[in-house]
Amino acid sequence: MNCVFCKANLTKGRVNHIVDLGERIIIIKNVPANICDQCGEYYLDTKTAIKIESIVDEIKKNKAEVFIINYDEMVA
Ligand SMILES: [Zn+2]
Repeated sequence: MNCVFCKANLTKGRVNHIVDLGERIIIIKNVPANICDQCGEYYLDTKTAIKIESIVDEIKKNKAEVFIINYDEMVA
């Protein structure tokens, strides 16, 4: 798989993924992703995206406006 923007190669790594829900912002640190060597755009695989969705659902029950969490702690 290559970057859809610049067609460069992707390398496996970790990113800080930000979910902006408008009234709430969730920052998930250390999310495994495929990162573009050239422009820094990143792509989550399906498994990771589904996990993030369930993390976000869980956090929506809380009333705080900003969350910073660690991916590894949420999926452990
Ligand atoms: Zn790119």
